[in-house]
Amino acid sequence: MKKTILLSTPHIGKKELEFVQEAFTTNWIAPVGPHIDAFEQEFCEVTGAAYAAAVSSGTAAIHLALRLLDVGVGDEVFCSTLTFAASANPIIYQNAKPVFVDSDTKSWNMNPDLLCEAIEKRAKMGKLPKVVLLVHLYGQSADIEPILQICDQYEIPLIEDAAEALGATYRGKTPGTFGKIGIYSFNGNKIITTSGGGMLVSNQPELVTKARFLATQARDAAPHYQHSEIGFNYRMSNVLAGIGRGQLQVLGERVAARRHNFDVYQQALGNLPGVKFMPEADFGTCTRWLSCLTIDAEKFGVDREHVRLELAKQQIETRPVWKPLHLQPVFASCESIGGEVAENLFKDGLCLPSGSNLTDEELQRVIDAIYTVHQQVNA
Ligand SMILES: *Cc1c(COP(=O)(O)O)cnc(C)c1O
Repeated sequence: MKKTILLSTPHIGKKELEFVQEAFTTNWIAPVGPHIDAFEQEFCEVTGAAYAAAVSSGTAAIHLALRLLDVGVGDEVFCSTLTFAASANPIIYQNAKPVFVDSDTKSWNMNPDLLCEAIEKRAKMGKLPKVVLLVHLYGQSADIEPILQICDQYEIPLIEDAAEALGATYRGKTPGTFGKIGIYSFNGNKIITTSGGGMLVSNQPELVTKARFLATQARDAAPHYQHSEIGFNYRMSNVLAGIGRGQLQVLGERVAARRHNFDVYQQALGNLPGVKFMPEADFGTCTRWLSCLTIDAEKFGVDREHVRLELAKQQIETRPVWKPLHLQPVFASCESIGGEVAENLFKDGLCLPSGSNLTDEELQRVIDAIYTVHQQVNA
């Protein structure tokens, strides 16, 4: 039996174990310690963020961000629809209401024109959203400038979910550092990993200080345990921050490897009828966290689901593009602004194996498998 090729697996470098060893040797096996401080510092240096708080997951970081911006009962949060459920779940944790916004075709991320229109409509109704939650999907930045402009005009804070976009650029800067608060994820399948973890960044030091406070059970400054607010247990462990420090050192290599995967796929498969690769918008560099393409079933001969199942038979894991949140049963009652672009990307979109540790032979196996599907149905 052939070795299974997975979608995106952890890729550990040379330094991680040293940092972890150091945590053990010095007995800093807690959600406090020198690796956490250093990881936050180094993360700021790499991303250009001003301040950062390391937490237990990207989801926790989003939850803290909403809490820091006082999102509460009944508040509306405008959120990208084409994303993972973790982007929007914390909106529900806060008893607020997600309103989903459709994608554009050039970045697959939130359509700025649609957002502007919707905000202007809401302004006339006197009912602005409390926050806009913008997702940078699959390693590609959304078109941040016009989105930030409309948010600033109406004084709506912007949260950027850059969980999938560490290492990408938007006009030379890092997505996640433009809004009031940005978040990143170090889950096992992300571009770098701490096995599980996340980061919250902001230009406002008081927000990041408050995030650390809330993430460590909101303990007041008192020798006894005293609490004036409800907190969370969301801080990152010092051991995992050690992994993160090592991973941060190889981020550039990981981006290069993922972009290489994409280039190889695109060169080999880009001319097949009905196959289109995810575009790279002209305002930035995509990390190609996942190599995504769409398959027009009429031109290709079969739909993406057929391709996915054929590849699965050969131990090659691929995934449909995210099912838009406005189509998810759990969000069925939520409002959606547009949605057709995201629906079509879901209908036709497929994510190919994209790990930074894939070999040329493995890439070739994926390519051959897709070619074979195409030949069989068109024979
Ligand atoms: C992975 C991911 C998250 C959640 O991050 P975790 O660290 O897994 O909690 C949030 N948003 C997006 C877009 C993601 O891909």
